[in-house]
Amino acid sequence: MMMTGLKDYEFKKMLRFLSSVRGQGTELITIYIPPDYNIAEVSNKLRGEYSQAENIKSKQTRKNVLGAIERILQALKQWKKPPKNGLAIFCGNVSDQPGVSNIKLFVLEPPKPVQIQLYRCDSSFFLEPLTDMLEPEVVYGIVTIDRREATLAFLKGKRVEIIKNLQSNVPGKHRAGGQSSVRFERLIEIAAHEWFKKIGDMANQYFSPQEVKGVIVGGPGPTKNYFINGDYINNVVKDKIVGVVDTSYTDEFGIREVLEKSGEIMKELGVVKERKLISEFIKRISTDGLATYGEGEVRQALMEGKAETLLISEKLTWLRVTMKCPQCGYKEKITVKGENLPTKLCPKCNTPMQPVEEEDVIEELAKLAETSGAKVEVISTDTPEGKQFYEGFGGIGALLRYK
Ligand SMILES: [Zn+2]
Repeated sequence: MMMTGLKDYEFKKMLRFLSSVRGQGTELITIYIPPDYNIAEVSNKLRGEYSQAENIKSKQTRKNVLGAIERILQALKQWKKPPKNGLAIFCGNVSDQPGVSNIKLFVLEPPKPVQIQLYRCDSSFFLEPLTDMLEPEVVYGIVTIDRREATLAFLKGKRVEIIKNLQSNVPGKHRAGGQSSVRFERLIEIAAHEWFKKIGDMANQYFSPQEVKGVIVGGPGPTKNYFINGDYINNVVKDKIVGVVDTSYTDEFGIREVLEKSGEIMKELGVVKERKLISEFIKRISTDGLATYGEGEVRQALMEGKAETLLISEKLTWLRVTMKCPQCGYKEKITVKGENLPTKLCPKCNTPMQPVEEEDVIEELAKLAETSGAKVEVISTDTPEGKQFYEGFGGIGALLRYK
């Protein structure tokens, strides 16, 4: 089974299925191949694993592992090199009946580049690299600067994207020669001013857009503060500055240094924001103010365009399933909170209805929010407020514009 260009929704569904598969032994194979990796090398490694697997004691497990490796080797022949985002391959016995083998192969081209190269044989598929890709991306802007060099980068989720690395032509301060030092100093300051202006313009261009949630400035010595306090970056970007950190470098290494030093800043930011939102929500609920909660109430508010911000717990795993009557075609959407689909009879003709489409409730509500112009905030359960929101309010709420 080959899948490329899966939509988010299909991808999530695939992940849900893969995460539900349990091997009867250590027989489920996971392979990740980064975009620039050599396929032939993966095949060689697999042949090595194949010889090792011939020593597996349990006959059933051995048969399943060998069968899975053969399937993967066969599938890899289609590829001269990995596709744009690399490959994630899952193969193994998906049957839950003892003694029965049903080896299935799933070859996925993930929505974002695969970052690790990995072979694993375990009793479940290893999905974390893929689930990480689905986390909502928070974008930060990072700039490292001194008088000689500057680098601008985005931090998107956990990935760093270098935007630009530039060298200045600001002369060093100490130059031997017969130039008048006053005049020389002045030339240096003009060149430095031009340099800061150039980097400031770039920061404005890349970091002003709304999706950039914060900006961190790094660099050695006081130059970065001079840059921030001067008239080089606009107020929109200035207001987004959440940290200023000392680094030894201003190139890509400098960006890494910024990340190492600002993990706490960013974590703190998320936590603070979440606490504020939920406190506001609870305050409004307890004073009968502009807020509501519960799946039905929130969906209603979204559809009527009354919701300003949708709050939704990341713990929520409910599904919104479209049921269809095979007899008369009547359709209805239901919310499924547990593992199993309830039986539902068609209200028109009493025939048992069948599921024809499913979607995460989170996703469904987020789409509604998007259409009605409401903001979406996914709430973690890492804070006491976030836990309270999930446990006390069912994990679905909204701040309202009006009632
Ligand atoms: Zn019917």
